[in-house]
Order: sequence, then C-alpha cells, then structure tokens
Amino acid sequence: MASAGGEEQYDFIWKVVLVGDSGVGKTNLLSRFTRNEFNMESKSTIGVEFATRNIQIKGKTVRTQIWDTAGQERYRAITSVYYRGAVGALVVFDISKVSSFDNLDKWLGELNEHADPHCCIMIVGNKVDLKHLRAVSSEEGRSLAEKHNYSFIETSALDNTNVGEAFNNLLVDIFKLQVEAPP
Ligand code: GDP
Repeated sequence: MASAGGEEQYDFIWKVVLVGDSGVGKTNLLSRFTRNEFNMESKSTIGVEFATRNIQIKGKTVRTQIWDTAGQERYRAITSVYYRGAVGALVVFDISKVSSFDNLDKWLGELNEHADPHCCIMIVGNKVDLKHLRAVSSEEGRSLAEKHNYSFIETSALDNTNVGEAFNNLLVDIFKLQVEAPP
C-alpha cells in the first residue's frame, strides 16, 4: 500500500484521460464521477485539469487520476504530455451531434499516436437524456467500438446515467490488463 501525503492509502494509481470534441460533456462526466456535480454552463477553462477518486476492485484500492483537457481541444494544443502514462481513455462524443461522432477517428488516431499501446479505450456516447435530439444510434456507437475492439457505453452526465459504470468498467478493464495479465 502506498500513501500520498497522509491521504487515503491505495494499491494502484492510474491515469485516465478524457478525450473528444469540445462540448461533448467531458468536464461534466469528470465532475459527476468525482464530486457528483453537474454544471449547465459551458466553461472554457484553458489548461489541463484533473481530479482523483478511489474505487475498490477485487479488494484492492485503485486511485484513479482523471485528466480533462478543459478547453485545450479547441486549440489543438494537446501534446503527448497529456497522454503520457495514461493506462485508460474515455473517448467521448455527444449522441445529439454527428460531427462529434465523426471526429472520433481523429481522436482515436491521436490516442494511437501518443498513448501507450496497452491503453484501455472506452467509447462513450454522452447526453442520452436528449432523446428527442438523438443523431447517432446506439448501434452506430457500438459497431464503431466493436470494429476496434474497444468497450462502449452510453451516459448522461446530466441525469447521472451510467457515469459510474463508464469509469468503473474502464477501471476493471485496466485492472484485468495491468494486474491480472500484465503486458
Ligand atoms: P466539454 O467541453 O467536453 O468538457 O463539455 P462540458 O462538460 O463543458 O459540457 C458542455 C455542455 O454540455 C454544457 O453546457 C453541459 O451542461 C452540457 N452537458 C454535458 N453533459 C451533458 C449531458 O449528459 N446531457 C445534457 N443534456 N447536457 C450535457
């Protein structure tokens, strides 16, 4: 068990990055998961933010450090530093915005270029509460994920649908790869 400055102890500390177009809900997925907060305002903080949360997997305490681009994606200023050391990525699109889905190829290309080849990837279709505005079907999301052998989930940061599941499922995938069958 390691400990960080007197905080809770943990067995593993893992970096997870949030990737995807601006406005898809990355910041709110992060705040919903780590603080159970949601914000209607679209803020444009410049920089990289991160938050941490501990979860339990198979009796081990996993501290996850989740990084959010916080506006940087607009300026294409994300560098390899952002991806360095990441063992997982949530690649997010907005189910009401086709362009955010079409851009997944670009984000996945960037991940493949900069992230570790063993980085676990989950495709996340966010804003499922906007049922009447849905522009990308669940099947389209799932088949893109299956094509690449990635996981897939649909979420709403607004009404807290599947947000915990998205992070937890990704962390279980990471656990399997890093702890149970290390590369
Ligand atoms: P980011 O730029 O990807 O970090 O996106 P934000 O988290 O800043 O969200 C962009 C906008 O979408 C904000 O106005 C949020 O309130 C809104 N938003 C985020 N998640 C959801 C969601 O699940 N449902 C709905 N309806 N709006 C959301």
